[in-house]
Amino acid sequence: MPAAPAAALAHADDLAGFIAASPSSYHAAAEVARRLEDAGFERRDEAEAWPTGPGKHLVVREGAVIAWVVPEGATATSPVRIFGAHTDSPGFKLKPQPSTGAHGWLQAGVEVYGGPLLNSWLDRELRLAGRLVLDDGSVVLADSGPLLRLPQLAIHLDREANDHLALDKQRQTQPVWGLGAADSADLLAEVASTVGVDASRIRGWDLVTADAARGAVFGKDDAFFAAGRLDDLASVHAGVVALIAAAADDTADHIPVLAAFDHEEIGSATRSGAAGPFLEEVLERIGLGLGASREERMRALAASWCVSSDVGHSVHPNYAEKHDPVVKPVLGSGPILKVNANQRYTTDGVGSAAWLGWCEAAGVTSQSFVSNNTVPCGSTIGPIMATRIGIRTVDVGIPILSMHSARELAGTSDLLDLAHVAEAFFRG
Ligand code: ZN
Repeated sequence: MPAAPAAALAHADDLAGFIAASPSSYHAAAEVARRLEDAGFERRDEAEAWPTGPGKHLVVREGAVIAWVVPEGATATSPVRIFGAHTDSPGFKLKPQPSTGAHGWLQAGVEVYGGPLLNSWLDRELRLAGRLVLDDGSVVLADSGPLLRLPQLAIHLDREANDHLALDKQRQTQPVWGLGAADSADLLAEVASTVGVDASRIRGWDLVTADAARGAVFGKDDAFFAAGRLDDLASVHAGVVALIAAAADDTADHIPVLAAFDHEEIGSATRSGAAGPFLEEVLERIGLGLGASREERMRALAASWCVSSDVGHSVHPNYAEKHDPVVKPVLGSGPILKVNANQRYTTDGVGSAAWLGWCEAAGVTSQSFVSNNTVPCGSTIGPIMATRIGIRTVDVGIPILSMHSARELAGTSDLLDLAHVAEAFFRG
């Protein structure tokens, strides 16, 4: 296989920077907004009136962000092209009264968020990041930098560790962050100090753990890219890159939309999740801004498409029996079209044909994923968005290994390929 081209390496390095700037869903939404504002998008406030007519806009709702381009030629029946992804990842979330500890160690009280591979969080330097809500209701994003660690018990103290490593989700998942008596230090004050906030002003918080190490390319021919939160920041990042590129085309007859939701890992049923009304409300307001009647909005939606992008499973050389015996996507051979007869993924024959057309337009080869019949399949935001809004939807993504690990593994070239297909989709 040839070495990764310079463009793919540059894209992967840019993704590493994006992930480093996005340790929490709130940071991810802010980083998407920052990049889009740098590219000329204007931030809209949900509580204010929105301008009508052509323009590039974005709105942040907590850990979610939606951005769109209304081209010069847009009309009341212009369809939308939505690229959907999610900003959250499995891990740990800080509990109330989080400053705990025992036996001379300071510890953080955490809950399990979503379905992490618990053992993958051992022996890594971790950041604690998210939002602090202050006494005046203001929200401040904070990031501790490397602060915590979940140290594994030495093999000498558990000779059977290699036979049966299983962590108690309460007793054995509380990270250490310093030394001293449990009541001698305030974890929230430590985090608040990094952004110059007096801890006495904190009234609420949403803080999660993230791997402190930066993403990196490695392997023969630079084939691999490893980082935390590839699920699903690889898709969010591809969508941002694609939207900025596609926004240059103001002759389009449809409206490109990037929708990055929070809370996919816990079922999406929140006001900033895909099962909430966020996307529907933004689409309605886009239509109102174009003077669309209710019938015109329905006509627009009937002609619209959604590409739901989330990571999928590459075949693993040590566990190939977990895959379908024939359909075995692998890193580096392109994005995947995700198929499931029971509609855990939305893809159908029509969606498959549309996806392959966008791949062809982008000059990208696509693989398929379908489950082994004895291995249940995950799901994602695609079926939720399609059920909620009724837009034709297709589920896609990039193949990865170590899904839900603190540090996941992707194919370097697939990352840029996904951005290229997303751009072709946006351009129509
Ligand atoms: Zn995901």
